[in-house]
Amino acid sequence: MQMHRQSLTAYAGPLCETIVQCPTPKDTEVLVRTARCGVCHSDLHMQDGYFLLGDGKQLDVRAGRTLPFTLGHEIAGTIESAGPDAKETKTGSAVAIYPWIGCGQCASCKVGDENICSAPRHLGITVDGGFATHVLIPHPRYLIGYAPLTASYAGALMCSGLTAYAALKRLRSRAARAPLLLIGLGGVGLMGLALARAMYGVAPFVVDIDGKKREAALAAGAAAAFDPADPGARKELLKASGGIYAACDFVGSDKSLNFATGVLAKGGKVVVTGLIGGVYMTPVAMFPLKAMTIEGTTTGTLAEARELIDLVREKNITPPPIAERPLNQAQATLDDLRAGKIVGRAVLTV
Ligand SMILES: [Zn+2]
Ligand SMILES: [Zn+2]
Repeated sequence: MQMHRQSLTAYAGPLCETIVQCPTPKDTEVLVRTARCGVCHSDLHMQDGYFLLGDGKQLDVRAGRTLPFTLGHEIAGTIESAGPDAKETKTGSAVAIYPWIGCGQCASCKVGDENICSAPRHLGITVDGGFATHVLIPHPRYLIGYAPLTASYAGALMCSGLTAYAALKRLRSRAARAPLLLIGLGGVGLMGLALARAMYGVAPFVVDIDGKKREAALAAGAAAAFDPADPGARKELLKASGGIYAACDFVGSDKSLNFATGVLAKGGKVVVTGLIGGVYMTPVAMFPLKAMTIEGTTTGTLAEARELIDLVREKNITPPPIAERPLNQAQATLDDLRAGKIVGRAVLTV
């Protein structure tokens, strides 16, 4: 059996179709037939080979990957075949794939934090991912049943949904005190808005420079929306909220983090998930004086992915708008994403 892939064959070059023999799963491995794979901003960084850090600096992300390489980490499909030691796998069952697979040996993996493993085997990042007809998974524990959600939605939940969920979980102790603040209402932020309402029963305040996104957030249940470019926004938000105890920065720029810390109450916390870049500076004394916490997080754990699928099912959280494209349009889809032409999530149908 052959496997068709849209592969990265050179950094900064277009994806090309490559055809290889389909792997046969050994031991605990499972071969999944891809149904849908989401296209994510981080795929653009992988294709470029770097992240922008701000001030013209780049973080090179080319190490540990051999070309041709298959991107794609927001994967859902059906079980095609399994190795002899892969227990509880049923051929044909529909599964979302948890892509943030770790080494299983390091200090992070030992406590279940495979998403921050020191020697990761993350699908579509360091190991071949889902812009392909098939994906090989090391163990069935990474497969999550998602019925009655759609495959596109389940795949997207493994990245943008999981990121928003894990960030919000880190604000649990403070979310009870006062309304949340969400900065950046793109794909992750809108998911965060829906999840925040489901998890904490609160209507968050939101901040975005884009008027359309502020409107979308208000329509989706935000308490109030602010434009950070408006010089009066901080004051108004402080007045409306009494000071923020819990904020998610889904943008991750110097501007967004400055805005977030500028509206924190004493004891407040910001969780940063965004990767836009920039350099954040603050007098060190602000940490003790404001009892301030800034925490970074990246995606989430396998346990959190399962919790998220359960939460979305239980609370019937509606999916973001999803634009489906065929697999052979992978490069065109990346181009559209880069040009800001994708509304909601772009998903490849395989
Ligand atoms: Zn992603
Ligand atoms: Zn590890």
